[in-house]
Amino acid sequence: MKIEPDVALARFTTLGTGGPARAFARPESVDDLREALAWAAAEGLDAEPIGLGSNLLAADEGVDALVVKLAGELAAVEVEGTLLRAGGGAANAVALHRARAAELGGFEFACAIPGTAGGGVRMNAGAYGGEWAGVLERALVVHAEGSEWRTPAELGLSYRHSDLRPGEVVAQVEFRLERRPGTEIKATIAELQAQRKAAQPTNKRTFGSVFKNPQHELSAGRMLEACGLRGHRIGGAQISPRHANFIENADGARSDDAIALMAEARRRAREQFGVVLEHEVQLLGDLELPPAGEL
Ligand SMILES: Cc1cc2nc3c(=O)[nH]c(=O)nc-3n(C[C@H](O)[C@H](O)[C@H](O)COP(=O)(O)OP(=O)(O)OC[C@H]3O[C@@H](n4cnc5c(N)ncnc54)[C@H](O)[C@@H]3O)c2cc1C
Repeated sequence: MKIEPDVALARFTTLGTGGPARAFARPESVDDLREALAWAAAEGLDAEPIGLGSNLLAADEGVDALVVKLAGELAAVEVEGTLLRAGGGAANAVALHRARAAELGGFEFACAIPGTAGGGVRMNAGAYGGEWAGVLERALVVHAEGSEWRTPAELGLSYRHSDLRPGEVVAQVEFRLERRPGTEIKATIAELQAQRKAAQPTNKRTFGSVFKNPQHELSAGRMLEACGLRGHRIGGAQISPRHANFIENADGARSDDAIALMAEARRRAREQFGVVLEHEVQLLGDLELPPAGEL
């Protein structure tokens, strides 16, 4: 199992920011993955899985950890009856393509989510009324002490949350889908993609939703829009002029620019609505937002 030093993370995140990972591994099998995690443990390094980096901000200074990106059979997809088996590193687009070809429905909602099967488990990703918890049968979780299959209940999935602990990697995912004609699947995907295009920036570098929707009549996006933040820019990062819960890499953004925008957005939402927004995007490395008490 090859471990590479100092691999720039900017090309592994959809925002296009992030410094080097101290070490980087691309395991292609469960044995490879176990070996990589054992190496990290022996080196005293944390192991941090990444998928397509589509909900990830990595520190500009770099990440002092072993970053693990699943490849090979851990990124492959196969179908058996109504079961879709995806490696944790399989892109949702590939899984959806295979589901459609096999005339299996239920995963169409993922057409709007540019991540991987494993990242989707970690985030309990969802859109248009569907979410991982609704189609997931079980996931194989590998960690330094061993591995086990976990059901959605054991994974503790709720709104954009799982109980996965640091260092736990989802290596395989099984989705239970249902028979549906390919033409219907195709039509649903086209409709959802059109809805997405009408509402969100789809041709910009972003990391998806910045904040989770709060318990409030307004969504995070509407709240930040009401705070006058659409188009607000710090450094190379900009709150999307189209949808205020997105941050775009407008021009040479750094993760620090995005963090500064997030801190400003939280401060204003607290001031105007008394709401402390919780970030959905995951932070990798030495990055943090001011605690709620300091907003
Ligand atoms: C344009 C755009 C639109 C989006 N729309 C949506 C949407 O509608 N709904 C939605 O839910 N999300 C959306 N997202 C966010 C993102 O696509 C999802 O959160 C996605 O599930 C992240 O998957 P990923 O593989 O890219 O994970 P990453 O972004 O790489 O990582 C996210 C987290 O998952 C962990 N992780 C990644 N892989 C694994 C693994 N194999 N095992 C364990 N942990 C892992 C990482 O450590 C990190 O904590 C959008 C993003 C973009 C850029």
